[in-house]
Amino acid sequence: MTAPYQGHCSCGAVSLEITSEPLWVRQCWCRQCRRIAASGPTNNALFMTDAMTVTGDVAWWDYEAASGNRIAHGFCATCGTQMFGRNAARDGAWVVRLGVLDDAGDLAPKSAIWTSEAPDWATIDPDLEQFEHQPPLPPRKD
Ligand SMILES: [Zn+2]
Ligand SMILES: [Zn+2]
Repeated sequence: MTAPYQGHCSCGAVSLEITSEPLWVRQCWCRQCRRIAASGPTNNALFMTDAMTVTGDVAWWDYEAASGNRIAHGFCATCGTQMFGRNAARDGAWVVRLGVLDDAGDLAPKSAIWTSEAPDWATIDPDLEQFEHQPPLPPRKD
């Protein structure tokens, strides 16, 4: 493991530093993730926000997910790079899109979720634990 992690958007207006390891790293093939990824899945690490410092202007867009939860996507207000996700049912933790980290070290997805919404051409690593839909929320740390 390699914390702290640093990252930034394409234009550099938003940057982040994270001083802890993620709770999990997942790949998501849901229809909404495929929109923000503009093709394939998103790859996301869930971090506690108290270990995260974000500078710059993050814009948020929220919607009701298939799970019924309010999900919000955070992106650079200037260049539009998708950086964060938060779930109203999960206080105190945000997902960070792996691609915005300067060096993600050995962070890699351990599971693939919403595989039922993957396109026919998708190749999903058979070593990943797979869920057709949303897996249950992980146990809280507190
Ligand atoms: Zn930017
Ligand atoms: Zn998704």
